[in-house]
Amino acid sequence: MKSSPHRHTPAVIDLAAIQNNIKKFRKHIGTHPEIWGVVKANAYGHGSIPVSQAIHDLVDGFCVSNLDEAIELRNHLITKPILVLSGIVPDNVDIAASLNITLTAPSLEWLQLIVKEKADFSTLKLHIAVDSGMGRIGVRDAKEANDMIALADKYHIQFDGVFTHFATADEADDTKFNEQKMKFDKIVSNLSRRPHYVHSTNTASALWHTNQVQDIERLGVSMYGLNPSGTTLELPFELEAAFSLKSELTHIKEIHAGDTLGYGATYRATENTWIGTVSIGYADGWTRDMQGFHVLVDGKFCEIVGRVSMDQMMIKLDKSYSIGTPVTLIGRDGDNEITAQDIAAWRKTINYEVLCLLSDRIHRVYK
Ligand code: PLP
Repeated sequence: MKSSPHRHTPAVIDLAAIQNNIKKFRKHIGTHPEIWGVVKANAYGHGSIPVSQAIHDLVDGFCVSNLDEAIELRNHLITKPILVLSGIVPDNVDIAASLNITLTAPSLEWLQLIVKEKADFSTLKLHIAVDSGMGRIGVRDAKEANDMIALADKYHIQFDGVFTHFATADEADDTKFNEQKMKFDKIVSNLSRRPHYVHSTNTASALWHTNQVQDIERLGVSMYGLNPSGTTLELPFELEAAFSLKSELTHIKEIHAGDTLGYGATYRATENTWIGTVSIGYADGWTRDMQGFHVLVDGKFCEIVGRVSMDQMMIKLDKSYSIGTPVTLIGRDGDNEITAQDIAAWRKTINYEVLCLLSDRIHRVYK
């Protein structure tokens, strides 16, 4: 989808905030572990290329979710290691090898398919995924991992890493976390050899479970300034939100008692009311359940009234304003602020999803 720069509804991305968050993390975790920036899903909606270029000198590598995201980084001169966090389609292994893209090996069966391809494996690097309890991908015992190491050795594929992913690192109860950690540690200690990288941490485990041996911290949501637990666990240090979303009033009118607004006529005025229209809708990822939430105009909270339509929505104003008056959907205006977490709480979801869903139609600008 093309972004719409002529529509005045930009996401403003603060790259310095992302850099500062990484620096704070570096202080928190000490000098040993490498930091690999997780820039999958268009850097959680922030724009994978500008973000990757801005953090290139602060991180040791990058994590993405699929081969296309990795290729995009290589095409934009990202030269550091890139790990694809899920299994790729085996036919594409040549592309990964030729671009020095490290692959996740999710199972022995997958590796058996890979080695059937007539690729040049000499430059191919693998990290074996361990399913310690997340249940998504990965081997569940050391035997399968060791069979994979033997097969990789036979084809001169570099066994470069082994990793797992925690399901509950962002929760107060650490029972499941400890079970996963024990399982992962056991599998790693039974490997025929230790690879260069053993890693398991995402933001939450790096923040709240620091007593682990880690070669890589896979840093995602906290780089962008968000708390992975929502509001459940307190951050040990402050993070700077990198994402704000702005718009402006495109139309203003006064409606009268009995007038209705939007599809389904779900809002009916009971008195004379000033209404503004804003150019954002569910096609932007500003979903219909935002009805009843609020935005900021002139530093004041204004309710979203009537159904959010595909491209526009209406808000209730305290008085008349002129066309072009700024509207803040995420961010600060005066003394008030709306965060991605506030929206997540309203929508009963997580802050990750709020930002990832904001579509490409929203033009991203960088400061
Ligand atoms: N590692 C893996 C395997 C992931 O899937 C993710 C994100 O979903 C991350 C690391 C980064 O997690 P976070 O954004 O919570 O830091």
